[in-house]
Amino acid sequence: MKRKTVQRDAIQEVFLRKNRPLRVEEILEFGRSAVESLNQATVYRNLKLLVESGWLRAIHHPEAGTLYERAEKEHHHHFHCRSCDRVFELPGCALNERKSTPPGFIAEGHEVFLFGLCSSCRKVAAKA
Ligand SMILES: [Zn+2]
Ligand SMILES: [Zn+2]
Repeated sequence: MKRKTVQRDAIQEVFLRKNRPLRVEEILEFGRSAVESLNQATVYRNLKLLVESGWLRAIHHPEAGTLYERAEKEHHHHFHCRSCDRVFELPGCALNERKSTPPGFIAEGHEVFLFGLCSSCRKVAAKA
């Protein structure tokens, strides 16, 4: 159906434009500027399809909850701003998995979340 494609295109467009991990509410908010008929159920359905097709991957942040990001990106870490609640990508990986793992353990992967204030929130905090 054509309508479904339009909605999925709008969601993919949001990810390409924002270029950072997004929460369902953010996808809904940004996607609605392109396709007004977008609702939460549609977003969830399309996110599921995009994860299944390997275009998106879900990341689980202890405070920010489930976020989605493009799966094609190389391994990287994330920064959660506690003020605006946005999650940013930190390119690259400075963690040595082998050195950080106790003897006898096998690490299968890792997620690193830094937290604090992003540059725009820091400026606001400095002015206050
Ligand atoms: Zn911020
Ligand atoms: Zn890493």
